Amino acid sequence: MTTVTAAEAAYVVAALLFILSLAGLSQHRTSRSGVVWGIAGMVIALAATVGLASRSITATGLVLIAVATAVGAGIGLWRARVVEMTGMPELIAIMHSLVGLAATFVGWNGYLDVDAELSGSLLGIHHAEVFIGVFIGAVTFTGSVVAYLKLSARIKSNPLTLPGKHILNVGALVAFVALTVAFVARPNIGLLIAVTVIALALGAHLVASIGGGDMPVVVSMLNSYSGWAAAASGFLLANNLLIVTGALVGSSGAYLSYIMCKAMNRSFISVIAGGFGTPAPAADDGEQGEHREINAEETAELLRDASSVIITPGYGMAVAQAQYPVAELARKLRERGVEVRFGIHPVAGRLPGHMNVLLAEANVPYDVVLEMDEINDDFAATSVVLVIGANDTVNPAATDNPSSPIAGMPVLHVWEAANVVVFKRSMAAGYAGVQNPLFFRENTQMLFGDAKQRVEDILRGLDALDAPVPEMAGTSR
Ligand code: NDP
Repeated sequence: MTTVTAAEAAYVVAALLFILSLAGLSQHRTSRSGVVWGIAGMVIALAATVGLASRSITATGLVLIAVATAVGAGIGLWRARVVEMTGMPELIAIMHSLVGLAATFVGWNGYLDVDAELSGSLLGIHHAEVFIGVFIGAVTFTGSVVAYLKLSARIKSNPLTLPGKHILNVGALVAFVALTVAFVARPNIGLLIAVTVIALALGAHLVASIGGGDMPVVVSMLNSYSGWAAAASGFLLANNLLIVTGALVGSSGAYLSYIMCKAMNRSFISVIAGGFGTPAPAADDGEQGEHREINAEETAELLRDASSVIITPGYGMAVAQAQYPVAELARKLRERGVEVRFGIHPVAGRLPGHMNVLLAEANVPYDVVLEMDEINDDFAATSVVLVIGANDTVNPAATDNPSSPIAGMPVLHVWEAANVVVFKRSMAAGYAGVQNPLFFRENTQMLFGDAKQRVEDILRGLDALDAPVPEMAGTSR
């Protein structure tokens, strides 16, 4: 068997492992094995690629590849070990930016170092691949950098609204098509520089134009773009595995974005086109009346008397790392005969499945963790809802206020319960920057402070309520 045939066979095995990995990752019970399949596929892919490259690369080149791999793997391992769960979205965004940057470099290299054997229509196809690869790579690069800046709160999550922003986007796409035709006919560096600059600007503008509430879709869309950028590099490098892997990432990312758009009642086209067709956001509506406060002891009493409780966690539970005391609270209440369930919004937190991961980590049984659609009709018959660090995902403005930036987004109908206790540190708005009328409703009470500390206080409060009342002196006689 020649090296090339062995490498191609290894690529087929790696591709199958990647497909198994995706299948495994689609359910939390099998997600660990999904990760293992993915690692195995990547090890085989790297070994086969280095084996293939060793035929035509000098010893120095191989050493350079080994050093680059060790440095890259070292940085990757370090970041993955130290990243907080709440920092995952921005880590993913910055990783996507690296894929985009790599694709841009591969494209440029494809222009500067053309295979001498290419001629005629094959050369034309090669130049089209260069141009498309650079365009997708550069859009992914700056789009992901802006997503990183927004997700890590280094810039505001509000949408950028430049005058004529949709005309700018459409103009950039038209210019890309025209420049591609010109480049295939007469390749030159000026056109390649022009498309790189246009794509860098377009990527940054598309993501900057999206409001905070729609960022989950943008993250998965950038995931998809990074896949297509890798596939474009695969064509340029004549690497079948890169094409297959890129297509897997590209299509699964696009499908995830589509599912998220449906879950959030958003138009897929509108989101990928930088918010096309969405109304300009209304001004921040500020405080909307008086809010009422409750303390941990009073909340413990409310829970003691409740027959059913729904806990709706959000990003603040992740920040506070409150999942362990929350799981303990749920266990204690269930022991007392209270029906306790969790209601999970599809975009709660900062990652798809963020809350499910945290609750699984704290050993909350899967059967009491319900999706929004499964639990939304049950709030009306619930005694107490504990909103733990959630805000946008429980905001009634999404259903009541058509001019709200989150109008139309399905939310958990927590306000239908008899009592709602909201755990947060202040009256600040959620990620979308919109005030929440829930906080001013008559059946809502605010429990201020760090969510973990407040839940621990409630646990102590419940214990105190259970403790036998010391007998008064003289009453035993
Ligand atoms: P939000 O981000 O809307 O609100 C979180 C709330 O938690 C804040 O109001 C904050 O209030 C409170 N909080 C923060 N830290 C603490 C703490 N230590 N203790 C108690 N409370 C705390 O959360 P949701 O989960 O409801 O919504 C998610 C938002 O993020 C949506 O807009 C979604 O579109 C967006 N998003 C989701 C992604 C995903 O894939 N899931 C990805 C990117 C964005 P305060 O500061 O007053 O304490």
